[in-house]
Amino acid sequence: SLQGKSAVVTGSTSGIGLGIARALAAAGAEVMLNGFGEAAEIEALRQEMEQTHGVRVLYHPADLSQPEQAVDLVKQAESAFGKVDILVNNAGIQHVDKVEDFPPERWDQVIAINLSAAFHTTRVAVPGMKARDFGRIINIASAHGKVASVNKAAYVAAKHGIVGLTKVVALETAEQHITVNAICPGWVRTPLVEAQIEARAKQSGRPYEEEAALLLGERQPSRRFVTPEQIGAFTVFLCGPDGDGITGADLSVDGGFTTH
Ligand code: NAD
Repeated sequence: SLQGKSAVVTGSTSGIGLGIARALAAAGAEVMLNGFGEAAEIEALRQEMEQTHGVRVLYHPADLSQPEQAVDLVKQAESAFGKVDILVNNAGIQHVDKVEDFPPERWDQVIAINLSAAFHTTRVAVPGMKARDFGRIINIASAHGKVASVNKAAYVAAKHGIVGLTKVVALETAEQHITVNAICPGWVRTPLVEAQIEARAKQSGRPYEEEAALLLGERQPSRRFVTPEQIGAFTVFLCGPDGDGITGADLSVDGGFTTH
């Protein structure tokens, strides 16, 4: 159980982040949600999670492309909960274009949200973790933190980068009860991936579900999507006492994506 622990999950109003936030709350942790969306929907989600799991659930609207907002997210969680034991850097965006067509402002945005935001939240969360001699930092990287695909220059660069950041912070905290790991998911069916399937279906003229099956078949040998619930359950394991020996690792949850 993660009772008595408090967590910040970036980008937790949707997809993988929401799966992780739910799993942490179900395990007894207090959770600070973050991400974009309709204010009323987010408030309904926050209340529903509090009632379902009997833990405090808060929300902070930080736009993680802005360093000072990333810092404020952690500071607000520290003042509301008294501490941040678990930091999950999950928020991320995608942009698909050939490198020569890649809009420079989109490159900057992907690097800011998918990589630099994790640096800013980490640098302010680590001192408290060191002082209390406990911490768990989980960076949601990607199979694209290990291998590449065409047309994803910024995303692949950011995800390889966050795997590097993970290893450095793991080294710097290794002698304390702090672990820092990257989870590297393969395809998970979330709005981020649905947009890519829709774009491909539009280009090919194939039905959506056929395109989804083709997408899986190209890279994910299991031919099944990984689920946000599976990533959530794995995160809970890493956060628990049995995760104490796992640090500095890039952990694939990818249906075999990175085997070939
Ligand atoms: P998603 O689009 O469903 O969720 C992204 C979340 O991040 C949302 O809550 C969104 O509001 C939030 N967000 C986006 N920009 C933000 C910003 N500037 N500030 C704060 N929050 C912001 O996507 P997802 O698929 O759940 O992706 C979550 C993470 O998992 C990303 O880092 C993504 O790269 C990674 N990932 C996804 C897959 C996949 O197949 N879906 C695979 C590997 C890795």
